[in-house]
Order: sequence, then C-alpha cells, then structure tokens
Amino acid sequence: MKLVSTRSSNIQVSSAEAIVSGLSADGGLFAPSALPEFSLADISALSEKSYSQLTAAVAAPFLSDFTEEELNSLCALAYKNFPSKVAPLVSLDDKTHVLELFHGPTLAFKDFALQLLPYLLSASLKKLGINKTAVILAATSGDTGSAALEGFSSVPGTKVCVFYPESGVSAIQRLQMTTQAGENTKVIGIKGNFDDAQSAVKKIFTEIKENENLSNSDYLFTSANSINWGRIVPQIAYYFSAYTSLIGSGKIKLGDSVNVAVPTGNFGNILAAYYAKKSGLPMNKLICASNANNVLTDFINTGIYNKNREFYATISPSMDILISSNLERFLFELTDKNANAVKEFMSSLADTGCYEIDGSAKCLMSKLFHAGFANDSETEYTINKIWKEHGYLCDTHTAVGLKVYEDYVSKTQDNTPTLIASTASPFKFADNVLKALGETAYGDDFEKLSKLSKVSIMNVPTILASLEKKEENHKIICEPEQMKTHVFDWLNIKNKKI
Ligand SMILES: *Cc1c(COP(=O)(O)O)cnc(C)c1O
Repeated sequence: MKLVSTRSSNIQVSSAEAIVSGLSADGGLFAPSALPEFSLADISALSEKSYSQLTAAVAAPFLSDFTEEELNSLCALAYKNFPSKVAPLVSLDDKTHVLELFHGPTLAFKDFALQLLPYLLSASLKKLGINKTAVILAATSGDTGSAALEGFSSVPGTKVCVFYPESGVSAIQRLQMTTQAGENTKVIGIKGNFDDAQSAVKKIFTEIKENENLSNSDYLFTSANSINWGRIVPQIAYYFSAYTSLIGSGKIKLGDSVNVAVPTGNFGNILAAYYAKKSGLPMNKLICASNANNVLTDFINTGIYNKNREFYATISPSMDILISSNLERFLFELTDKNANAVKEFMSSLADTGCYEIDGSAKCLMSKLFHAGFANDSETEYTINKIWKEHGYLCDTHTAVGLKVYEDYVSKTQDNTPTLIASTASPFKFADNVLKALGETAYGDDFEKLSKLSKVSIMNVPTILASLEKKEENHKIICEPEQMKTHVFDWLNIKNKKI
C-alpha cells in the first residue's frame, strides 16, 4: 500500500517513509491510496490470535513495508506492558459495550499507538538505511505527552520532547510528564492552549525542513502526534479485537453490524474506526462525541468547519481542540482522494478559520456519522448516572461518549450493539470524577485518588500512586515563540538563526 499526501497526489511514499517523516513536505498528511479488504473469514480467523498477533495481522496490509512476522515481534514488545486482557469489554446492558482502552502504562488509549510507534520508527529507519538520532517533537493536550515519553524513553537512538499547555492539563497528567526520567526526554510547559503548542510544533518542523544545515545534521526530526501514520494503524486493530470479543461472548454473530461511539478531539481514534469500517469490519454508525469545543459536531451536522469560536477549557481536556488535524485524512476520503480540494479546504482554514464542503460530501458524511456533544454539566451528570445505574465508573472523556450515544439512541431508537471507546482511567481525572459523584474533593491530587478509591471500591492504579514519591525533573515553562530555542539548546544545536 502506497501512502499519498492529502494535499498533492504526486507525493507518494512507503509506510516506512511515512512513519519517519510524520508530516508530508507539502504540509499534508499521509493517507492510504487504497484500503485493504478483510473478509468475514479473515475477521473470524482473528479470534484465534493473541492481542499482539491480532494487531500484527490487522496492521500488516496498512504497513506494507513490514511483514506480518516482523510486526508480530514488534507488537509483542509493544504490548508486553499491558495486562493480559489488553482491551477488555465491559457490557453495561445488552447493547452498550464499553471498550476499555486504558490499561496501558499511562492509563489512556494513546498507549496503544505510542507503545508500538517507537519500535515502528526504529525499524523504519533501519529499512531506509538512515543512521541518525530520531528526535520526536510532540504537542500534547495531556495524554499524548506521557504516553510518548513512556513509549520512547527506553528506545535507543531516539530523543523525545513534549510540549503541554501549562494550564490545560490535570495535575496528575502534568506529574506523569514532568517526573519522566531518561536522558533522552524533555518536557516543556507552554503559556497557551493545545492549538498554540501544536501550531508552534508544526512551524518548527517546517523551518527545519527549509534549513539545509538542520536537515543534514545528525538528527532526524519527526512527530509522534496523531498525524503520524504509525499512530493511526495500531488504533484500527482494537476495533477488530472488540468485534471478535463480542462474537466470542455471544453478543453478536459474525457479520452483524455494530456502532461505535468515540469521544473525539483530533479525530484520530474515530478515523481509525472509519478505516476499520472501510476495510470490511461490519459497522453501522460512527458516533462522533465532542465536548463544549464542538467544532466537529457542527461540521458533521452542517458541512461547515468553523474554528472561529470561543475556546473552552473543559473537564475533558484531552478533547479541548479546535483544529482537528486528522479530519484532513477524512476529507481526503470524503472527496474521493481529491488532493486539490483538500488543499483548498486547508488553506481556507489557515486564512479564514473555516471552510465548507459541498452537498454530496455532506450527504455522504451524514450517512457515515452521527455527531453530538456534551457540556461539562452533562458530562458530570452522565458519570453520576452510569455509576448509580450500572455501578460502572467512567472518566470525563468516556462520559462524553456515553452521553452522546444516549442522545443518539433516544433520537433514533437504533438498537444496534454499540462499542463505546473508553479512552482514560477515571483515576486520571479523579478530581472531576469525584465532583460528578457528588463527593467533595479535599486536599491534593493524591488525597483525591484515595478518596476516589474509597468511594468506588477500586484500587488506585499503582502507576498513579507512585507519582507522589517521584521528583519533578522538568520545570521549564515558556511562550510558544520560545519553544524552538529550548529545543535547539537541548540538542546543542548552534545555528539558531533559522
Ligand atoms: C486524546 C484523547 C482523546 C481524543 O482522541 P482523538 O484521537 O484526538 O480524537 C479522548 N480521550 C482521551 C482520554 C484522550 O487522551
């Protein structure tokens, strides 16, 4: 499978090249030129496999530089830090199945991609004969940062630098990043929001590309943001895994359709669901759930993308995003791979903050997707209600997915079994989860963890409990404009005049 730039059809690369470069030279994202076909027999055969074998089998056609055997050994390394049930399903009733994607080392779904990406990256460098240190620059709205640091910190030949919005992440999220050990890690807080951090990272990449001295240095700069093709592929696998689990537990029969509801920010996780559907996984509606930053809800419902609106810092901070980067890959699909059209949408977005797709694309999109949003009080209400009705505790992001799914069902009476992507452990957002349960949250973050543990009769995940004793190694806070200087100082790059 060749990957092509979403902004110019004559830029074509292999999967190894796409993983190494992250972003295409023209600013576009790499997207598949055609999608593989999994038959029902192929899907049925997946149920015999372990989680890492299943990921290798699903990923192989999307990463055609790699054989399934190679991927098998990389996936075995990547998923060794997960418990034996890598992506368990919890059924709330006959049709509502929560797909828990938070049992990895940083307790959020991004581990699925970021535990594998470092191995894919170093294998790709080898395949391409590139003998350089890979420097990963990543903007994060919280969970990407710790997941990237955790994934890369022990991989030789890599360095990772993470930027987070100083006041846009929870204290626990911050500590997960700032306590990161490892010579090859750097963590920097930004005075601004996630979009400011992401735009600044994109700018650094563009400037590096245009500067020959840097392009020829010992470093190879790349991204671990969800724009990297190597981030999307591992996420496709868990939808297949969930589907085979539903068959295994007798909840559906092979060939039955399922819906998925995904709490969405950068459109990466739900894009993976779309690719799964287009590759043969029987799926009905893709339910796109946003928080008060509901730019995607409006886009799916009206065909108009407009980021000119107030930005809200919500209790589901990992979804506080107004520029959904991965939507570009979906636009590419929606326009039947019309790179010129995508390029125009993206330049209109850059110039005016908005764009509008045509009527037929709009129609196609509303067949595929349902979109809705939940504000903070609806999110809290949902956490409380799900706890009371089902004894199930969910985090603030997952609650957005559950609320939008509930609204969808009351509107449509659709009884199709539905997977709810549960993207983080409730303990990562203990403060707001406690408030939602009507408990007063006193004290510091760690006291809140024990309180939540008492209330829920669940243990505090050891990874979080141990943060209390760790030292904060990273203390830099800066303006977005100073990010580049910090990176170059860290890498000891003299030529700062770019
Ligand atoms: C990143 C994240 C999301 C949003 O995922 P996208 O792929 O950006 O849509 C949702 N929930 C949590 C907990 C996250 O960390």
